[in-house]
Amino acid sequence: MTTDTTAGTDTGTGSAPTAGATHLIGDAWVPAADGRTIDVLDPSTGEVVGRVPRGTATDVDAAVAAAREAFPAWRDTSATERGRLLLRWAELVERHADELDRLESREVGRPHWGPPPMARMLTFLAGQADKVQGLSLPTHTPDVLGLTLREPYGVVASIIPWNAPGPMFANDTGAAIAAGNTVVVKPAEDAPLTPLALARLAREAGIPPGVVNVVTGYGHEAGAALPAHPDVARVGFTGSPETGSAVMATCARRLVPLHLELGGKSPQVVFPDADLDRAIPAIVAGITLNTGQICAAGSRVVVDRSIRAEVVERLAAEMAAVSVGPWHARARMGPLINARQRDRVLGYVRTGREEGARLVTGGGTPTGSGLDRGFFVEPTLFDDVDPGMTIAREEIFGPVLSVLAVDDESEALDVANDTDYGLVASVWTRDVGRAVRMSRGLAAGQVAVNAALGAGVIGGPFGGYRRSGFGRTMGADAVLEHTQVKTVSIRG
Ligand code: NAD
Repeated sequence: MTTDTTAGTDTGTGSAPTAGATHLIGDAWVPAADGRTIDVLDPSTGEVVGRVPRGTATDVDAAVAAAREAFPAWRDTSATERGRLLLRWAELVERHADELDRLESREVGRPHWGPPPMARMLTFLAGQADKVQGLSLPTHTPDVLGLTLREPYGVVASIIPWNAPGPMFANDTGAAIAAGNTVVVKPAEDAPLTPLALARLAREAGIPPGVVNVVTGYGHEAGAALPAHPDVARVGFTGSPETGSAVMATCARRLVPLHLELGGKSPQVVFPDADLDRAIPAIVAGITLNTGQICAAGSRVVVDRSIRAEVVERLAAEMAAVSVGPWHARARMGPLINARQRDRVLGYVRTGREEGARLVTGGGTPTGSGLDRGFFVEPTLFDDVDPGMTIAREEIFGPVLSVLAVDDESEALDVANDTDYGLVASVWTRDVGRAVRMSRGLAAGQVAVNAALGAGVIGGPFGGYRRSGFGRTMGADAVLEHTQVKTVSIRG
């Protein structure tokens, strides 16, 4: 069986815009109530590759109503059946993996980076649906039974960014519906096509109408309307701290729970006993993958002064060798998502130089055939970065790596933790004792030893400490966080 998962979207290398720009609301693929649309661009050329509805509060209202109507039956569907439907969705996502990969690569501008993870994420979450369990509790007297139930919230909202729209959609939606909630997702305006394609497959898998709804649009319109809606019982947000704070203010006014994932300024701590043959390529891949537009990107190299010169030299060589090109090229790094992000990254490069950091490689926009129209920047390395400098403190969300030198383990820990964020931290060492001490000492939601973006754990919860947010996506925790606990006592 073949299905056009990307209906309305040209996923080839041509530039035909989509014909039908629709949300998914209940059982219907519908345009925005006022008919307006947003163009989706290929970041390597600026060409229009798709068109989606420019949703407003009216569309959000319709989607929340559909989710609300679907909720009681979905909540009461056996957990086994929910898991089975999720698994069928995972299978369809696997079957369409190449199409989805092309679509996501194209709207994000990312050259192919390996097998897309969505199917395995959904497979994991499918397996969690019937593992949502409560406790039996001790009681004061034997004629009483005490237990806890974990119940879904109802209609939950998910607002996701553009940097990895497929995995973000799969994780948030999968966890929400595995726990028995119905969901309205607002994808980012820059990359809404993959979420729509995944939602189409969810319907095809037999997930009932109204369980998964997608409203596309801008943040200040469709996005702002979602947490403000009186029937939304929980909100998940991934994106910038500024927007996260605005979403939190709305949730605070309404007193609804919130999950925030807000990026990071993750350290890569390199000790003199590190295996540099492994560390250097992994660190460079960690900051150039997706053009550095990954919340987990390790953007600060905290290195022991005794090996600093060698590390800087090898990082520079590795970065200079990273080929840059459009999503369909055999390149290692694509463009940034849009002109605003490119200008923002180049602004940080300027600030880095002005504040006294030493530019070792990159720092500009690459030239060459195929690079003239996209939002490209060069892989960039700064040395002599002081922990107080702007480029050491703020999330750049681009391929810019800063090197900070330290004298010993204690200073390495201090500098690594000297950030407002706390998402991911890596340690490169062969010393197990040091690995244990650093794993305990680093203030981050994820610590990886001898790996840059995590070492490939299945079902690991993912989320931040401090300004990186709170709550967890992925893993069993994400499903449990989509439930509320009810204590029941029964006197016989
Ligand atoms: P953003 O936070 O503005 O956008 C993220 C999502 O929130 C999008 O879907 C957007 O439409 C929506 N949104 C925007 N304003 C909203 C509002 N008032 N109410 C509700 N939803 C709203 O992020 P951005 O402008 O796309 O990127 C800016 C910076 O954010 C980046 O440079 C980067 O530092 C950070 N960022 C982090 C992540 C991450 O994974 N943590 C992802 C994307 C961007």
